[in-house]
Amino acid sequence: MLQSQRRRILIVGGGIAGLAAAYRLSQARRRGLPVDEFLLESSDRLGGVIRTDRAEGCIIEAGPDSFLREKPEAAALARELGLADELIGSNDAGRRTYILHRRRLQPFPESMILMAPARVGPVLRSPLISWSSKWTMLREWLTGRAPGGDPPADDESVSSFVARHFGGGMLETIVEPLLAGVYGGDAAEMSARSVLGRFCDMETKHGSLIRAARVFRTRMESSGERGSIFMTLREGLGSLVAALAREIEPERVELQRHAVRMERAVSDPGVPRYRVALEDGSSREADGVILALPAWASAELLGSLDPVLSEHLAAIPYRSAVLVALVYPESVRARLPQGFGFLVPRAEGRRLLACTFVHQKFQNRAPANRALLRCFLGGADDAEVLAAGDDAVMRIVREELAAILGLHDEPLFARVYRWPRSMAQYVVGHHRRMLAIQERLQHLAGICLAGNGYSGIGISDAIRTGETAARERSRWNCTKKKRLNTEITEDSQRSPRREAES
Ligand SMILES: Cc1cc2nc3c(=O)[nH]c(=O)nc-3n(C[C@H](O)[C@H](O)[C@H](O)COP(=O)(O)OP(=O)(O)OC[C@H]3O[C@@H](n4cnc5c(N)ncnc54)[C@H](O)[C@@H]3O)c2cc1C
Repeated sequence: MLQSQRRRILIVGGGIAGLAAAYRLSQARRRGLPVDEFLLESSDRLGGVIRTDRAEGCIIEAGPDSFLREKPEAAALARELGLADELIGSNDAGRRTYILHRRRLQPFPESMILMAPARVGPVLRSPLISWSSKWTMLREWLTGRAPGGDPPADDESVSSFVARHFGGGMLETIVEPLLAGVYGGDAAEMSARSVLGRFCDMETKHGSLIRAARVFRTRMESSGERGSIFMTLREGLGSLVAALAREIEPERVELQRHAVRMERAVSDPGVPRYRVALEDGSSREADGVILALPAWASAELLGSLDPVLSEHLAAIPYRSAVLVALVYPESVRARLPQGFGFLVPRAEGRRLLACTFVHQKFQNRAPANRALLRCFLGGADDAEVLAAGDDAVMRIVREELAAILGLHDEPLFARVYRWPRSMAQYVVGHHRRMLAIQERLQHLAGICLAGNGYSGIGISDAIRTGETAARERSRWNCTKKKRLNTEITEDSQRSPRREAES
């Protein structure tokens, strides 16, 4: 193959989505497809929000700590990269999550599939749920439909969806804190269709979510399917990033290259070509570009190429997160409640959103004589925490842990991580925005979007979007003017079953 016939593909963004895209394109090239891939990353490291640090025998995840077993892409990629023996599950024998309720930690009721009880008994006994919500739940189960009425034709907020089925009590104590922990988002704004796609499907099929959850549980029990809910890698998720990086030739990766603008480059008539301008004044040209970036960053790049597309992308909101890892001595480990950690509902009026007892959730995260806690701050109600200095953040976290756990001890050491504008929010009408984005992309042959802004915010979702974009680009035939990013089309048109309800 002549060099000139090869299609040069630029991947902008070296998070897990961009790395997955680069890896798949490098495989395609080695198989003989005429593609030449290059990756640009603005920071000095690969992995994006995935980062694993090591300190004094602890494995500290600075961003995500695991992926859901039911979403297969991350585990499949790890296996393919030779990490099969490194995959571990969460310690589900000790799985118990608490919710702060009236200043006390109460166990999350057993047999819940997010908000839908697969067994009614534990929910009826739980002090977390008000009697009026319990009554609404019983009606939902017995009548086989949402007591609050039928779903609207198009989309509704998560709050409205949950309240229709189970009343407001369930929303405040169970659903809001769960979603705040995953999205840092506000249930009144988030789209039921895009965030709770699986539950919308359950409603369509069974009417009652409780009936659907019971069917699901019976099916799981009879299939004998076992396995932890969360999976990770023994040495941390950073090993997935490292394994991907090993597969991509170093000369094809440029770090500290911040892309600022995209424009059309001169090319043969009918053959699209793009120029990506970098902050340092240089530029790179390519026949195809995969923007594996947060949607707001892609919006900035595409501003002059397609202002309408750029506006749609910029309208996908993102929230920031601050994560604090604290390491304590053995005496603290012995005093902590058994379980994975706790969530804090908004009504409790605290700044902490969630806390994970990492040493109990996964094996080998901390030496036997240490406790490792990860605390989450930020989200919809506390954007200011991002601007606070480390000392101020530590003061907040220690006050919260003292108030909630009675933990007044000085940590042996702590780390503060900030993730500005990192968590995409799928707000009501997100699927319509995705259709509009898709429509605009049809006029920009050769450009694909990947990452967490579109069809799922988990690690597996990001990998899926990167892999799909790579498949699109490696199949790309420049004589066809109309190229579809099939990933986005599929996800916007179907009821989004696989989306990010983690
Ligand atoms: C604190 C936190 C905890 C999470 N926990 C979990 C979890 O436990 N499980 C789970 O499944 N998911 C979790 N997620 C979500 C998941 O980790 C992310 O959605 C996913 O990793 C995003 O990958 P990405 O490649 O799309 O984006 P990113 O990781 O954000 O990567 C984008 C990359 O693009 C680069 N970039 C940005 N702008 C430019 C530019 N102009 N030019 C060049 N490069 C640029 C950035 O530096 C970055 O490296 C969590 C997210 C956060 C923030």
